[in-house]
Amino acid sequence: MRAKLVAGNWKMYGSLAANLTLLTRIKDGASGRRCVLAVCVPFPYLAQARSALAGSSVAWGGQNVAEHAQGAFTGEVSGEMLAEFGCRYVLVGHSERRALYGESDRTVAAKFVQAQRAGLTPILCLGETLAERDGGITAAVVTRQLGAVIDATGVASLSRAVLAYEPVWAIGTGKTASPQQAQDVHALIRARVAESDAAVASELQILYGGSVKPGNARELFAMPDIDGGLIGGASLVAEDFLAICAAA
Ligand code: PEP
Repeated sequence: MRAKLVAGNWKMYGSLAANLTLLTRIKDGASGRRCVLAVCVPFPYLAQARSALAGSSVAWGGQNVAEHAQGAFTGEVSGEMLAEFGCRYVLVGHSERRALYGESDRTVAAKFVQAQRAGLTPILCLGETLAERDGGITAAVVTRQLGAVIDATGVASLSRAVLAYEPVWAIGTGKTASPQQAQDVHALIRARVAESDAAVASELQILYGGSVKPGNARELFAMPDIDGGLIGGASLVAEDFLAICAAA
């Protein structure tokens, strides 16, 4: 049976003082829970996350990684650097990176490769825009995004990764996909992976992300192919994040 994972994406929010309260509450509230919890924090707060969470059941990670191992790439942060700060996870291909920073499927695949080379578990984000959903091409879009990674590094690499289906129209909008809408896409993603490797597909954790809140998490996580959540806004409020974890 696949374990449930609930990962927080803090985006570009936080301060040393606010983080300390949030991390301490999450760490205290997480002990004894069965679901795996993680927080993906801005780079400058990785050291703080490490010192607050080390020895606890809560993992931490980055929100982005360079597509190169090292070199003259001003402003970039490598997978090795994230690993040095104890990161277990890193987000790759979040829709905000794809839309606002022009990350192509190819770039995302290169980042995925670098994350794994550094021993990190990439959380690969996939999802369609509203126009793409309305145009009936959701399946084609997520298959293309996933295919770029499989082409670059092989289906077996997914046994060391997590996927997150995040419909762009549901991120930060308060509009959640219905449990059945999300389940349909999760099942499709798993079926696509199974076409290449059934064993990898059955073990693969596929998270749902997009306006998950304590009030809708239980129904979403009850679906057979939804293995937890990638949580933006609600991960900044310890009680909400822990309530979502309890739902998982
Ligand atoms: C996200 O940033 O990945 C996300 C899902 O955000 P929110 O939960 O705020 O929709």
